[in-house]
Amino acid sequence: MFEKLLIANRGEIALRIQRACRELGIKTVVVHSQADTEAKYVKLADESVCIGPPPSRDSYLNVPAIISAAEVSDAEAIHPGYGFLSENADFAERVEKSGFVFIGPRPESIRLMGDKVSAKEAMTKTGVPVVPGSEGALPEDPKEVLRIARTVGYPVIIKAAGGGGGRGMRVVHTEAALLNAVTMTRTEAKAAFNNATVYLEKFLENPRHIEIQVLADEYRNAVYLGERDCSMQRRHQKIIEEGPAPGISRRLLERIGSRCAEACRKIGYRGAGTFEFLFENGEFYFIEMNTRVQVEHPVTELITGIDIVQEQIRIAAGEKLRFRQRDIVLKGHAIECRINAEDPYKFTPSPGRITHWHPPGGPGIRVDSHAYTNYFVPPNYDSMIAKVLAYGDTREQAIRRMRIALSEMAVEGIQTNLALHRELLADAHFVTGGTSIHYLEQKLALRGT
Ligand code: ADP
Repeated sequence: MFEKLLIANRGEIALRIQRACRELGIKTVVVHSQADTEAKYVKLADESVCIGPPPSRDSYLNVPAIISAAEVSDAEAIHPGYGFLSENADFAERVEKSGFVFIGPRPESIRLMGDKVSAKEAMTKTGVPVVPGSEGALPEDPKEVLRIARTVGYPVIIKAAGGGGGRGMRVVHTEAALLNAVTMTRTEAKAAFNNATVYLEKFLENPRHIEIQVLADEYRNAVYLGERDCSMQRRHQKIIEEGPAPGISRRLLERIGSRCAEACRKIGYRGAGTFEFLFENGEFYFIEMNTRVQVEHPVTELITGIDIVQEQIRIAAGEKLRFRQRDIVLKGHAIECRINAEDPYKFTPSPGRITHWHPPGGPGIRVDSHAYTNYFVPPNYDSMIAKVLAYGDTREQAIRRMRIALSEMAVEGIQTNLALHRELLADAHFVTGGTSIHYLEQKLALRGT
């Protein structure tokens, strides 16, 4: 096992990784920007290195600064967390070339999955179902494009191969609008991702977002750790996640899960990963793979009892997976609410000083957060300040516990989306379960906010 690990991230995930390291007896080095110098998790780390000014491009995305921090601190491995450099294949390569271990998949796997066209092709080859659409990139010939769209059937969605974060997509309802939409998406994709490649797929009208968590080691052992339902989203940003997914048969979920594990073996995937699917009319359609730990990983930790971050570290250290598929048993139900520093109805960010911080507790409650009374939420980064999780034997119990947790929680000095979460936990459709990815936006639109 490593003696010392560098955490190339910030906020709650930096603290989460630190806790995993402590349990494994690994010393931690945390890198931070000038905006995070005073953060408690920075002080809690065995060592810390300031790598630049507040803007991410000068600090958390500053590859040379991060590599030299690893060199001066004698760290052996680098954990990238999520966001920032976590899915940057060039970074993973630089880390390894500099003689450190990258806690994540091989750079080739990150590259394969980072391009949505090659990812989709790889999935088709390994037997994971994908959304029907163009086979690979859309050709230049407009006649061909029209033909493909006609075969797929409208509405269609044009997507950038290099897209991410909900950007680089355009829905087309009629043939008249198609060619113009393709040109516009290509131009935008070239500007935003320096890759003009686009592809086309069937636009699913009312899907749910269901994702499969996997773990795989160096030796082609792979397991899936059940699923998460992340359909409660606004502008493609998840706000509530839960597992297991309500109302989907175990048989269907096990079938898709084992296909994902099989795909990991076939492509030689290593580490933690998530296969994201749209689910509609009883069918799963792969949309993308995340080659890193995800924000919502604790949902799976609660229902499987497996510490995903510790397993990531063990796998990177060359250990074999410690369990087989039959050892993985889902128990109970978990829900996660992402608490953001933002206006609960207008969604404008609300950075600033937290004058009062009262997190919830009690049976079945887990709070992953780096915040505390007097913590200053910097304006430079993502607005998420906490993840509140509720676990119960049943979904009903998890919902009841989450309602109590949200009612106990108090944050003053900044605005948070707690009020929205309280409302959603009381929403009849959420309580029934199985709402689509459009539900939250439709609900907000009805209220006129
Ligand atoms: P990103 O990498 O930008 O997150 P994804 O491919 O994961 O892009 O898609 C993001 C979101 O866009 C999905 O969660 C879904 O809401 C919507 N979306 C993507 N593809 C389709 C599709 N074929 N039909 C309907 N909605 C889609």
